Amino acid sequence: KAFEALGLCSQLAEAAAGLGWKTPSVIQQQAVPPLLQGNDVIGLAQTGSGKTGAFAMPILQALMDRPQELFALVLSPTRELAIQIAEQFEALGSGIGLKTAVLVGGIDMMAQAIALARRPHVIVGTPGRVVDHLSNTKGFHLRGLKHLVLDEADKLLDMDFEQEIDQILKVVPRDRRTQLFSATMTNKVQKLQRACLVTPVKVEV
Ligand code: AMP
Repeated sequence: KAFEALGLCSQLAEAAAGLGWKTPSVIQQQAVPPLLQGNDVIGLAQTGSGKTGAFAMPILQALMDRPQELFALVLSPTRELAIQIAEQFEALGSGIGLKTAVLVGGIDMMAQAIALARRPHVIVGTPGRVVDHLSNTKGFHLRGLKHLVLDEADKLLDMDFEQEIDQILKVVPRDRRTQLFSATMTNKVQKLQRACLVTPVKVEV
């Protein structure tokens, strides 16, 4: 019930219950309502806080309202985190035929290109490999994207993904919603925030 009180539909509340989530975590309570209202959000939250659910559930609800392929892109600093994020999206979106693609290094480009040809709704990837596909995979673009998430932004910047993130920002629509999650608020994260979020609501746990 509590997930519905945040404005989430019963189908997503049931999916959360199916994952064993009884009540929304603090970051979910704080981030979901402004996201459902269409705000950009900057979230200061650690791994383990439930931040993946916080950004995934509003994206899935928006997708259910207006189904569209290549709807959301989530950038993650590591391959392992990208896979975990995609798994949470799939678990929450299993009832709506959600298609995801994971674009990370160390895995065959061709297999990922085939996944992209199936027109996923949600792409989760590391910035380097996403840029590789933008330049090498025929027909792949992000021109209709509606939602962008920068997860673990402090780590993305520590790992020197700045240039790749800039390249991606150049090819996603200005008319989109953006979420940025970070464990720490550094100067570099603030600079990135200014470059890609519009009047964000700040939530902190
Ligand atoms: P995250 O911080 O997104 O990496 O999530 C950490 C773990 O918390 C994951 O295993 C999630 O499945 C779990 N989780 C997320 N939201 C909730 C919730 N509302 N109640 C219980 N567990 C949750």
